Amino acid sequence: MTAALEASGVSVAIGHATLLDHVDLRIAAGEMVAIVGPNGAGKSTLLRLLSADLRTSRGLIRLGGRDISTYAPAELALRRAMLSQHVTVSFPFTVEEMVRMGRGNQALATSQVLVDAAIDEVGLNGFRHRELPTLSGGEQQRAHFARVLVQLACGEAVHGPGILLLDEPTSSLDLRHQIALVEIARRRARNGTAVVAVLHDLNLAVRFADRIVILRHGAVAAEGTPGDTITSDVIRRVFEIDVAVDRTIDGAPFLLPQTMRQITETSPKRDQGVSP
Ligand code: ADP
Ligand code: MG
Repeated sequence: MTAALEASGVSVAIGHATLLDHVDLRIAAGEMVAIVGPNGAGKSTLLRLLSADLRTSRGLIRLGGRDISTYAPAELALRRAMLSQHVTVSFPFTVEEMVRMGRGNQALATSQVLVDAAIDEVGLNGFRHRELPTLSGGEQQRAHFARVLVQLACGEAVHGPGILLLDEPTSSLDLRHQIALVEIARRRARNGTAVVAVLHDLNLAVRFADRIVILRHGAVAAEGTPGDTITSDVIRRVFEIDVAVDRTIDGAPFLLPQTMRQITETSPKRDQGVSP
């Protein structure tokens, strides 16, 4: 079956730096994929490639089976929506004005309904007339998420299930809103949207993802179900920390970071499981 989104042997080199080195990734419609990895691993670079915000040095990205570089910008805006890691807003737009920008130049009769629904879904009803710079970091992040949801909805109204790309969407959110965001993404996935999110919180990634891709030094270090990828050995190797990984009653892994690992030291393998 054609993947919703596929990266084949993609590399990115800037000057002498190799940001990504021969990465392969297939994302199916309705799938939730988390990308995790240390700072500088290439996660944002990969997401920017998947959104066609950045071009590959080598390799190919296909969206719906077609080379993503052949889509016109307006066409692309209807196929995939991306929440970038850093969004700067230089004008004091209100929340509602910002969220409305998700429509782009789509003149759908239902677009105000989509704007209202997105503002409601991220819990910003009481903030819609507030200027964005007066909001807390988390509130601003939710407003940008709502804008991206509107873009996704406008595209899906035309073409059916699309692609939602989220770069650290929970970095400023409290626990309740982190879970709320995961649930919103899951509702989209149930309707066939392919969702890819860069996340730092590995426990949240386990809750979020059908599949986890761990990047390190611009390459895929591990990939698979949360149970296969979130193991103490993988985390020790990739993040260079000692970590205890235990299992919830339903078998999902969860982890408790313990100490920085001395990289020069060959510390003995720890038992899995949480010690008191
Ligand atoms: P992260 O996994 O933290 O999202 P990024 O994908 O943003 O990492 O960046 C990967 C690496 O590439 C980092 O070490 C970053 O410093 C480097 N990098 C990003 N953009 C450039 C650039 N334009 N020129 C040189 N190096 C870059
Ligand atoms: Mg990043």
